Amino acid sequence: MALVNEHFLKLPNNYLFADIAKKVNAFRVTHPKAEVISLGIGDVTQPLCPAVVEAMHRAADEMGTLEGFHGYGPEQGYDFLREAILKNDFLPRGIHLDIDEIFVNDGAKSDTGNIQELIRWDNSIGVTDPIYPVYIDSNVMIGRAGVVENGRWSNVIYMPCNAENGFVPQLPEHRVDVIYLCYPNNPTGMVITKDELRKWVNYALKNDTLIFYDAAYQAYIQDDDIPHSIYEIRGARKCAIEFHSYSKTAGFTGIRCGYTVVPKDLTAATLTGERIPLNPLWYRRQCTKFNGTSYISQRAAEAIYTPEGKMQIQTTIGYYMENARTMLETLRRLGFQCYGGENAPYIWMKTPHGTSSWQFFESLLYGANVVCTPGVGFGPSGEGYVRFTAFGSHEQTEEALSRMKKWIS
Ligand code: PLP
Repeated sequence: MALVNEHFLKLPNNYLFADIAKKVNAFRVTHPKAEVISLGIGDVTQPLCPAVVEAMHRAADEMGTLEGFHGYGPEQGYDFLREAILKNDFLPRGIHLDIDEIFVNDGAKSDTGNIQELIRWDNSIGVTDPIYPVYIDSNVMIGRAGVVENGRWSNVIYMPCNAENGFVPQLPEHRVDVIYLCYPNNPTGMVITKDELRKWVNYALKNDTLIFYDAAYQAYIQDDDIPHSIYEIRGARKCAIEFHSYSKTAGFTGIRCGYTVVPKDLTAATLTGERIPLNPLWYRRQCTKFNGTSYISQRAAEAIYTPEGKMQIQTTIGYYMENARTMLETLRRLGFQCYGGENAPYIWMKTPHGTSSWQFFESLLYGANVVCTPGVGFGPSGEGYVRFTAFGSHEQTEEALSRMKKWIS
């Protein structure tokens, strides 16, 4: 008899976005004439930029020839893309990485979920709260998170981020083995300064803690002094793995490509105290379980580092950030307390008068036919907040805001 991995059964049945979809569908059935606008789910809406499309066409044509055909590629990615990453994402920030420290993948979700395979099942885990749910759920699946009690996992240390602490998480009081950080943050849209990030790196170095740093939204940073990579902080190569994604940077949610940085200086200990480098372990893991990202996707990613590609993706990012600006301005004018949205495509809004996240979600859906994401779906500290995304079109965003104005008045 095959025995099931019962840790899966501990996961809540409901997936946040499936719950939202069910409620929106129920509304649509009872209100067939209403046109619902979603500012909820975090998918992009604008098309791929021309440089990417041309690169994909070229790659597809190549693949149709005997000389240009590519079968299985290197598991860790083609050198043409890894070199472009080093040259464009790191060197200009004074970060010198080796090509073997870059692992191209099919998007950041897979690796932010899979990376925990590198550490023993009984490591302690710390997360900022609210949080991108993949970090915790992937630890639940192998039994590292413990059991749920009042919406919290017993073996997870939650570091609340809320209006009261200015969304700056406090360093944990007790040492933690592994900490997940995500900046710019999904869902709060908040960023971390170099000084704050330095505190985390120093904490990690002092306590022998491993940091998993998710930089999926770094391309949205507008302020010059906000770090794009944890490796801008001295010492981070010894304590951090970093995740990047082209999904929001260049509209690759349907193309699938990203990369993970595992520095060669990074080690974790055995029970006897021997230090084991994690880079060769991740390489071994990828060679066993991953067969590479498609050649066409990697050529597409390479194209965003060309002069035209860089300009074109900035235009799209600017388009979304204009939505974020309009939303921030309007929501604040309507009297809502809003956070984020200045260096990230997310706006985190406090619900008025102590309304719960789900109550506000329903009132907004029924009152203005606009969908937001209830903050509590991202963790206990998300209760009393909702998330709006800037990934809609200008027209949809403006229409949603004008409906909200009417609804409020
Ligand atoms: N990390 C964060 C914080 C995200 O919000 C997302 C997607 O929404 C991802 C990673 C996954 O992105 P990808 O499409 O590259 O898998």
